[in-house]
This record gives sequence, structure tokens and C-alpha cells, in this order.
Amino acid sequence: MREVKVKVRGQLFLEMKTTEMIGRRRFEGKVAIVTASTQGIGLAIAERLGIEGASVVISSRKQKNVDEAVEKLKKKGIQVLGVVCHVSNAQQRKDFIRKTVEKYGKIDVVVSNAAVNPTVDPLLQTQESILDKLWETNVKATVLLLQEAAPHLQKGSSVVLISSIAGFHPQSTMAMYGVTKTALLGLTKALAAEMAPDTRVNCVAPGFVPTHFAAYITKDEVVRKAAEDQTLLQRLGTREDMAAATAFLASDDASYITGENLVVAGGIPSRL
Ligand code: NAP
Repeated sequence: MREVKVKVRGQLFLEMKTTEMIGRRRFEGKVAIVTASTQGIGLAIAERLGIEGASVVISSRKQKNVDEAVEKLKKKGIQVLGVVCHVSNAQQRKDFIRKTVEKYGKIDVVVSNAAVNPTVDPLLQTQESILDKLWETNVKATVLLLQEAAPHLQKGSSVVLISSIAGFHPQSTMAMYGVTKTALLGLTKALAAEMAPDTRVNCVAPGFVPTHFAAYITKDEVVRKAAEDQTLLQRLGTREDMAAATAFLASDDASYITGENLVVAGGIPSRL
């Protein structure tokens, strides 16, 4: 077994990187689509599902990013198709699903991961166009994508929405973003009721994970330390932590779980 050791604030952690280490193929024969999956948490989710046997369809706004991510995944032996899809673009959502079905004939797993956070303005000073963009990308696009995907979802299929710890306590510097993530917790419940019994719908709420999206938190030493100190485990999350939780909820290991949210935030307070 090959172990990859990662040092975080003086402590050694083992990261699961290879098929042998993951050791399971829970998605053999399954088709998984992941939005916003050319870097960060989305790419890690696509990689994890692919390593576990899924044919994955990745997507994001930029062709170049899609092409590069496809190459990375192919090098790991993953069966992958890349499609440009800005989640707020109706035609691109249609094409994403159409190309998936043309190539693989069905959909077993949908991971809705795309989100934007375009402002640090207080709510009462946020422009209407920004409020609309946050709602459109972070919430509405998920519903519209699932409307396209629904006719192709198999019995036993699974949907995972990516929310945020910020959904439990929207913070002043990203209040409306937090509120859209709160909305995803409700959307998870509503979709789970509507899509049962054939499709389960759950939600992962990540804590702080060093990605491009969270660079403003994780690149500054003082802010990063403050974020680490909010956790019980005294570290930031990894993309692999989020991918593991998502894969669990998407897999048959979670076959009696629907309408739930799983906080993956190192113990940052969320709810009882
Ligand atoms: P990231 O590393 O910055 O990656 C963002 C990805 O989204 C890129 O592949 C980007 O590619 C794509 N993208 C951006 N806008 C898009 C759009 N409108 N339509 C389709 N694709 C789009 O971000 P991340 O940190 O992994 O975040 C992923 C999810 O985790 C988000 O929902 C975020 O709210 C959530 N989350 C993150 C953290 C954290 O600390 N990182 C914490 C809580 C929750 P293109 O530029 O090519 O479009």
C-alpha cells in the first residue's frame, strides 16, 4: 500500500491518493456528472468517483480548463468526458446532459457543486444584479439542471448538493452567499421528498478548504490560523475530505440516507 504523508501545522496526516489505498469500486458501471469540476473540490469529487469505477462527466465554464482536467483524470486511468457548462446557461445545461446521455446512455449520480461569491458588501448594500446572480448560480441552476437530468436518472440514483458551513451561520462578509447555501439545505429536503423513492438527495457542507475559491481565507497566515482555530481538529479541510464524504453519500453505503446534510468542517459548530 502506498501512503502519501502530508504535514499540516506540524502534524502528519495520511492522504488517500491511489486506487489501492481507496480499495473500493462502489461506482463500477455508474455514470456520474459533476458541475464546476475542473479544479478544487469538484475535480477531487470527479477523481474520487472515477477512481471508484464511475464514468465521470466533468464541466466548467472554460474549454481550456475542461480540456486540462480531462487530461489529468485520463492520466489516472479514469473514464472521463468533458463538457463546457456554465451552470446559469440554459443551452449549456441541455448540452451537458445531452452529451452525457449520448455517450453513456444514463445518469446515476449528479453532484451540483457550482457556486459564486461575488461580493463582500453588507446585504443592505448589495446590488440587485448581484443578489440575482447569487440566487441564479448557487440555487436556481441546481433545480434547472436536475429538471434536465431527471428523465435519465436511474432507479437507485443519487444527487449530492454542495452547500457550505456558511449556510448554518451566514457571515457578514459573505452574507447572501451564506443564505444561498442555507437555501440548499432546504432544497435538499424538498428534492429528496419529490425524487423518492428512486433517487436519494443529500448535501455536503464543507468547512474551509484551501482552493482558488477560498484563497482570500487560506492564503493570509493570520486569517488562515483563525480559520484553523475555529475547528476542533485544528486544521483546514482537504479536497479529498470533501470528495470522500460526497462519494459516501452518492454510494450505496448511504442507501438508507436521503434529505440529509453532512457537515465536513473539522468540528466547526453547525447544529446539534
Ligand atoms: P474552486 O477551486 O475555485 O473551483 C471552482 C470551479 O468552478 C472551477 O472548476 C471553475 O472553472 C468552476 N466554475 C466557476 N463558476 C462556474 C459556473 N458558473 N458554472 C460552472 N462552473 C463554474 O472552488 P471550490 O472551493 O472547489 O468550491 C466548490 C464548491 O464548494 C462551491 O459550491 C463552494 O461554495 C463550496 N465550498 C467551498 C469551500 C472552500 O473553503 N473552498 C467551503 C465551503 C463550500 P471555470 O473557471 O472554468 O468555470
